[in-house]
Amino acid sequence: MHFDLLTLYYLAIGTLLLSAGLTLWERHAHPQRGRELRLAATGYCVLALGCAIASARAHFPAAMGAALGNLVLTAGYLVVLNAVAIINGRTYRRASVALILLLAVIWTIGGSAWEASLWNYISAAPIAAVCAMTAREVHGSYLLRALRSRHVIVAVSGGHALFYVARATILPLVAAGFGPDALTIVAKATMYEGVLYSVGLPMALLSLVREEAHNHVLGASRTDYLTGLANRRWFFEEGERIVRDAPACRQTALLAFDLDHFKSINDRFGHAAGDEILRLFARAAQAKAGGDAVLARIGGEEFAALLPDHGAQRSRLVGQAIAKAFTQAVASDPRFPGLRATVSIGVAEHGADGTSLSGLLSAADRALYAAKSSGRNRIELASPVDFAHAC
Ligand code: GH3
Ligand code: MG
Ligand code: MG
Repeated sequence: MHFDLLTLYYLAIGTLLLSAGLTLWERHAHPQRGRELRLAATGYCVLALGCAIASARAHFPAAMGAALGNLVLTAGYLVVLNAVAIINGRTYRRASVALILLLAVIWTIGGSAWEASLWNYISAAPIAAVCAMTAREVHGSYLLRALRSRHVIVAVSGGHALFYVARATILPLVAAGFGPDALTIVAKATMYEGVLYSVGLPMALLSLVREEAHNHVLGASRTDYLTGLANRRWFFEEGERIVRDAPACRQTALLAFDLDHFKSINDRFGHAAGDEILRLFARAAQAKAGGDAVLARIGGEEFAALLPDHGAQRSRLVGQAIAKAFTQAVASDPRFPGLRATVSIGVAEHGADGTSLSGLLSAADRALYAAKSSGRNRIELASPVDFAHAC
């Protein structure tokens, strides 16, 4: 297959402009990443301009075309780096301007004497460095650590950096050994790889933004908006998985909570104050339930906690600690003078009522009903369990 160098330039310009258009379009769907997408699209346009200048550099006087092409191309890579860096709350504005000025000085001083060396080898070094930093920004990003698409960006940008490292270091040796033909082949290979980069990087950046938005929506669909705890849906999905996958001898307990006389709290302090008390309960439960607990708001003023590796007695202690912390939090809150908020709790242990989560919840609910009937503000255990026989 024969590739004409100019055709490859046109191809790269076309794919970069198309990528810029698609990236700009995507801003409407992901306004939370609008700034990054706009900057990335600008970077692709600057790279396209750089390719256009580089392809026509022979028509410029002296080394002007090569110098301008190199400066604009490097600026394009720098804009892409900044687009990625602002995800991490960073910018390289000053360093970017400094690098462009440095390159301008180098081209001004050595452009006419060493145009070929500058264009073929030396100008590749800053591009390699900028692309390596782009890969590093994404690889080291705490915010992006959960996104699979970040690996693609690291591979595309890191691969591009390696290619340009080779241009700056190995190509001079190859050219010395094999003559100018090697340079022609490498120029085509560079443009071919550039076309792949101009498609690969924008695609990977778009899938990163989409994956991030998808994870956000998924998280919201599993979260109770008022308290920030898991919602009923996620409690059943995650809880069912934990109960199902638990080894036969693993103890799992479920606490069912129902705030006492909550209707009268609403009546006395107002619905907004009631919401605040629900949040106080959520915070008390989060503080005392432990990191492994699946905590959820499963109804209006009803909550549940699934406690892996907890027997009934240990989970009773957890329940008591939550109840105490809740009562104290409300009592010490100046917005609720004289209010003694309490909660009734039912506890069931794995095996008390079958092995499914809904069985466990029914058992805990029955215990909760017993706690309400015996005067509220107490914790009751579901009927004795046959857990020991299963091991
Ligand atoms: P009990 O001790 O028997 O549990 O009495 P209760 O008043 O807590 O129970 P009841 O089921 O009669 O009332 C629950 C109240 O919870 C009624 C409802 O208005 C209130 N509620 C449900 N969801 C919310 C909410 O999101 N915010 C607020 N502020 N109140 C809520
Ligand atoms: Mg209730
Ligand atoms: Mg209640």
